[in-house]
Amino acid sequence: MRSLNDYKGITGEKEVQKIYEESSPLENKHVEHINSTFYGGGVAEILSSLVLLMNDVGITTGWRLLKGHPDFFNATKRFHNALQGSSIVLGENTKKIYLETNETNSIFMHIGLADAIIVHDPHPLPLINFYEKKQPWIWRCHIDLSNPNPGLWEYLKQFILKYDSAIVSIEKYKKQDLTLPHYIIPPSIDPLTNKNKLIPDYVVKKYISKFGIDSDKPIISQISRFDKWKDPLGVIKAFEIIQKEVDCKLVLLGSMATDDPEGHIIFENLLKKVKGNPNIHLINHADDFLVNCLQRASDIVIQKSIKEGFGLTVTEALWKGKPVVAGNVGGIPLQLIDGKNGYLVNSIRECADRTVNLLKNPKLREEMGKFGVEHVRRNFLITRHLMDYIRLLKDQLKA
Ligand code: UDP
Repeated sequence: MRSLNDYKGITGEKEVQKIYEESSPLENKHVEHINSTFYGGGVAEILSSLVLLMNDVGITTGWRLLKGHPDFFNATKRFHNALQGSSIVLGENTKKIYLETNETNSIFMHIGLADAIIVHDPHPLPLINFYEKKQPWIWRCHIDLSNPNPGLWEYLKQFILKYDSAIVSIEKYKKQDLTLPHYIIPPSIDPLTNKNKLIPDYVVKKYISKFGIDSDKPIISQISRFDKWKDPLGVIKAFEIIQKEVDCKLVLLGSMATDDPEGHIIFENLLKKVKGNPNIHLINHADDFLVNCLQRASDIVIQKSIKEGFGLTVTEALWKGKPVVAGNVGGIPLQLIDGKNGYLVNSIRECADRTVNLLKNPKLREEMGKFGVEHVRRNFLITRHLMDYIRLLKDQLKA
């Protein structure tokens, strides 16, 4: 079990001390986080660490999961896609499933006495309808909200406007038509988890070999849910160009989040597409240690997203000292400084060209890798994230 003190070696003693001091007015306050999946995807990743550390600094912090039938998750996945710009037919039946699932959950959640409630993403948004509100309710949106489907946005706004404040990951996701106060809190990674801790090279090699990946050629990887916005097909097309210039291999690793019903179909289609190419490995397996090993074994990490709320996979790869070639979208430019710790790309061709250039230039990869580690240390570690939450809660609770 980790404690905030364990982070001193990474962030410095002063930083840790400051967090303990700032959090003292919140001691014994009770906060509840609510989201819809325990694993798979960035939200669950963050809550796994944040909730532990909030408790460690003395804030009684719970983590509730919204339970629902597949129909509910099909509906909320369509909401997710439409918030990122897809079209959606918002029928009465969909709205009924959405509201009824939230109402049922409200009966067994018993969160009404908490001092503050933090609701993540659209799935649990309507919960607020089913409580007599006695505390600040905060909506934390992890999605790229810069161009939401207007019909869905109008529908969801009726719930959001009941909240006291909203948190978004970057400035450009602030919504002008929401009158509530906004906080900007970028996500973060936890350097001490199985996914991010330091692993010796020989262990890395041995572990990935269990999954059929040898380190005999340079490795390029993308680690992501199998989702159209992550553009796995675009990565494969880029790899087909790269392969003509440099003999290397591509690994696409993903796992299925319980709140994402589309992954299996996309995975099956990709399997058909790559059949016959021995240099492409497609793995569907939930394993944090494998994510860590694969990022460390990679020469270059790709994240060719077309839309991306933030992209924790980029942060994770930078922390492993890897240059990242990633889509110039959403929260990625906040993390990738073009030409310093990787490249921002706008097309398959650009993705291929940048990757080839890096593959041929080990010195540049090393320099970029070093820059990336320090960029993450300064900006995107869980300790900074915890401090942001402490300040927000003090503000909202007037503590
Ligand atoms: N992830 C994982 N296993 C996988 C694929 C992804 O654990 O096979 C994790 C990944 O390491 C990261 C999170 O899921 O911590 C994805 O977060 P990100 O912000 O990149 O994207 P999201 O899935 O939230 O859209």
